[in-house]
Amino acid sequence: MTIACPECGIFEDLPPLGRRHTAYCACCRIDLETTRGRSLNAALACSFATLVLLFPVNLLPILRVDLFGRHSENVIGAGVIALWRQGWIVLAGLSAVFVVILPFVRFSLLTSVLGALRFGYRPRWLGPVFRWAMWLDLWAMLDVYLLAAGVAYYRLSNVGYATITIELGGQCFIAAALLTMLTRASLDRRTVWRAIARECEARPAERLVGCAVCDLVQPASRDGERCLRCRARLSRRKWDAPWTTAAIVIAAILLFIPANVYPMNISHQLGVKVGYTILTGIEDLFKNGQWPLGVLVFCTSVLIPMGKNIAVGWCVVSVWRRSGVISWRRPRCSAWWPSSDGGRRPIRSPSCSSCR
Ligand SMILES: [Zn+2]
Ligand SMILES: [Zn+2]
Repeated sequence: MTIACPECGIFEDLPPLGRRHTAYCACCRIDLETTRGRSLNAALACSFATLVLLFPVNLLPILRVDLFGRHSENVIGAGVIALWRQGWIVLAGLSAVFVVILPFVRFSLLTSVLGALRFGYRPRWLGPVFRWAMWLDLWAMLDVYLLAAGVAYYRLSNVGYATITIELGGQCFIAAALLTMLTRASLDRRTVWRAIARECEARPAERLVGCAVCDLVQPASRDGERCLRCRARLSRRKWDAPWTTAAIVIAAILLFIPANVYPMNISHQLGVKVGYTILTGIEDLFKNGQWPLGVLVFCTSVLIPMGKNIAVGWCVVSVWRRSGVISWRRPRCSAWWPSSDGGRRPIRSPSCSSCR
């Protein structure tokens, strides 16, 4: 079976994998397919359980705050309505979309696809629906919200005269976030794509284009049309990618400075203005013995974004300078580079006896 690597675009022939095996890209070393720790049944169970848990998460109280003998309970839906009533219309809309609607949509779509495959149905909508389910994973990350909720819980619990209790909705939220991670860990997307429609082996002389979503290799004459499997638009190249990437990276690096120098929020405590930057928040976590949470916040808020921007910036500069350093890991001779006209040419490796 021939596929296009989702990261570097190289065309590769994948052999059938046995149990507990992983196939890597010969060029960029990304996992192309793995049977290690992956199971469609486990992914279906986790996805369905997450979908069911989303109902109590949105309908039951998340936290209970006791303050000076009075108590209040926080329900996600009521919080969105409160934001709307206080004039935070954009924030209310974003919260409703990202916290309430998208997780429901994502896990409904994913459960539908995995359920259909599990019970042997192969309707035509499986490909586009699975494509949407994968795309929504970027925008409906309950596990990321769990980290934010953990920091908020810590902040509230540090207010000496307030007692914070995690209610049933909050417990369901924690379980749903953990199941989201388990769904991601147990799902091998190539197995799902292959169950929807199998790839076939391409002839070496054939001119090809690879789908950037499902990696299905198709004749180059289909460039600009819809993918046969997932219905995404086929495109041989993104010609403006270095310029667009450079603009976004420069903007991200510039915004990263005020994001860390200026406070994220300012609160009034007993008439005194208190502003928290990301770094002072991390420092507080360390001072109060919450160092695991401090390390996690530092990595996710400072280290990873900065490292990612520097790495992507370095890649863009390397592309502009036509540097050979970026292709330091040459593919094996069995691999095929896509050439600019959509054809393929074999890479000859000096370390391979048949190439020599
Ligand atoms: Zn690759
Ligand atoms: Zn596709």
